[in-house]
Amino acid sequence: MIRQFELVERVKAYDPSADEDAINRAYVYAMKMHGAQKRASGDPYFSHPIEVAGILTQFHLDGASIITALLHDVIEDTTSTLEEIQKIFGADIARLVDGVTKLTRLELTSDQANKQAENFRKLVLAMSEDIRVLLVKLADRLHNMRTLHYIENPEKRKRIAMETMEIYAPLAERIGMQEIKNELEDLAFGELHTDVRQSITNRLDFLKQSGGNLIGHILAELDDVMKGNKLVAEISGREKTPYSIWRKMQRKDVGFEQLSDIMAFRIIVDNVDGCYRALGVLHSHYPVVPGRFKDYISLPKPNGYKSLHTGVLGPEHQRIEVQIRTRDMHEVAELGVAAHWNYKDGGPNTDGRQYRWLRELLDILDHASGPEEFLEHTRLEMFQDQVFCFSPKGDLIALPRGACPVDFAYAVHSQVGDTCVGAKVNGRMVPLKAALVNGDQVEILTSKAQTPQPAWERFVVTGKARACIRRFIRNQQRSQFLALGREILSKAFRQEGYDLTNKALDGVLRQFKAASADDLIVEVGEGHHTGREVLLAVYPGLKEHQHAPNVVPLPKQKDKTKQSGKHENAVPIKGLIPGMAMHFAGCCHPLPGDRIVGIITTGRGVTIHTIDCDMLSNLQDQPERWLDIAWDAGAEIKSHTSRISMVVANEQGSLGTLATVIAKNKGNITNVKITNRSADFFELMVDVEVHDVRHLTNIIAALRATPEISSVDRARS
Ligand code: MN
Repeated sequence: MIRQFELVERVKAYDPSADEDAINRAYVYAMKMHGAQKRASGDPYFSHPIEVAGILTQFHLDGASIITALLHDVIEDTTSTLEEIQKIFGADIARLVDGVTKLTRLELTSDQANKQAENFRKLVLAMSEDIRVLLVKLADRLHNMRTLHYIENPEKRKRIAMETMEIYAPLAERIGMQEIKNELEDLAFGELHTDVRQSITNRLDFLKQSGGNLIGHILAELDDVMKGNKLVAEISGREKTPYSIWRKMQRKDVGFEQLSDIMAFRIIVDNVDGCYRALGVLHSHYPVVPGRFKDYISLPKPNGYKSLHTGVLGPEHQRIEVQIRTRDMHEVAELGVAAHWNYKDGGPNTDGRQYRWLRELLDILDHASGPEEFLEHTRLEMFQDQVFCFSPKGDLIALPRGACPVDFAYAVHSQVGDTCVGAKVNGRMVPLKAALVNGDQVEILTSKAQTPQPAWERFVVTGKARACIRRFIRNQQRSQFLALGREILSKAFRQEGYDLTNKALDGVLRQFKAASADDLIVEVGEGHHTGREVLLAVYPGLKEHQHAPNVVPLPKQKDKTKQSGKHENAVPIKGLIPGMAMHFAGCCHPLPGDRIVGIITTGRGVTIHTIDCDMLSNLQDQPERWLDIAWDAGAEIKSHTSRISMVVANEQGSLGTLATVIAKNKGNITNVKITNRSADFFELMVDVEVHDVRHLTNIIAALRATPEISSVDRARS
């Protein structure tokens, strides 16, 4: 435990204007008030606020923060009152202590999302008034995590660890308290995944034992290299926490084999110019590991962090990660918000509103319609790293890491998101799911005919994009299933000479547990009930044997007599109702002439597969999703994409010959992908637009007759 004079000395060392007398009074007051109270560890309770104050001195926090730390539990846990604090320590300290006390009362990870959101709201509001409230709370949480193992109740330990991982560690990162964040995460990790952490620690120990003084050698060589280039630099190595190693293993899907995987090297130089020179020296001396370079100097993180990051195949052929920064940047990285506090000019600026992200959060608080919406839209996003992209006009749009052009489009306006059909990044067309990176200039192409696509949901990362897509799909899906269900039911009714009316269904709603006739029809469309089942419920006198299925149980039993598809269809397929969303499966590329089957997929309408597609075997046990469909011979002939795999001799002109053969047979090549390339052969996948199977068969036959092409097949995956 830190002694009284020691604490005062520590604070005075960096904040000479701190009120020494008040710190002394607070120290004694906390000791007196907590008296004989004990912690779970058996230590006297007052050791806790003193340790919390000690943690804050490491981050050079001002005298008022230290006093607040000493007093942070007296109101909650002793007979002390806010009035008394105000009388003894003044209004400022009372306000800070009150803020921390309120935070302590929050049960952040309550089971009800509602309550959690409400509490999170309060937390943000409290922080925004004075960032020191949060700093004291973080130090409090850090000390509690360090002593978490003394708590006997495992559920309580787990709850505290979860809360730390989800709320406090991300907040620490947000205000740049990297060290606190790392330690909080690692401690929580140890509680939540005790075994995983243990096995990583064992592996670390093993590598350290077998690696000898490898780190020392790497440091010495880096030092030589810098000196040799007349760069004054301070070089150090730091071991990563087991948690950050685990995160890296999860993200990159790799293990750690080398000792250097667990070390981060740091080069500190005098000025920004030196950073880039040191980077140049590193990159010219050692091969660069691709994809590791990050310039957080020209594009700092939202919390103010600046550095250059790179990876090289360094000394001793070890893959190493290096951070390069100036002394000032280093201070910000180590001290976070406190680094900017200048004690000489009238104390720190502690108004949290100076932080852009905090301002944005408060903005959302004002506009969110309900607490859940607030959580959905902000909590996840604020906790992720961001990428900063620009609109063609130069407007800056901040998005979470991993965001794609669709996220960008929705961030601009939901209307833009709903109608986006393509994107140009830095002037080039990119897929809508491409991940955006810092500095990208993004131009969104829109079309009035476009609607949100269900597939987008798989790659968007922002809450706004996801919410808009889901809302659209829900509405669209329902109207599709309603139309499909009505079609199925009308047919079943007609076959027995009845008309389908909502009134006829009203009598059986209860039996099917449906709220309305439309709901029941939707359920039929979704395949929960067959048309015949509903018909028999309405007219129980009818006999079962006349059953004529509209839904086909299995492909083998497929009814060969086709329905007469007299209605107009936008697609040349019989058995689908007009307006039903459909698309051709990417696995088997069905062509007119292929035997096909439709699969009803939630949220995507109907997917058309060839009857021999391998994917269908997974759906054997869900006959309700199979739709009997066929190509409509009378429909307008359109081109369809088919895929051919080929092995072609690797010689001059062979690709040209291939293209000529396909063109002569009136096929249109839309894409070519070389899947394998050796000295003698290319393996290719070629996408060709054709009319139907016969057309494709002709092209394949022509290709087979070409000497340069050694094998040709229709691709089935
Ligand atoms: Mn406490």
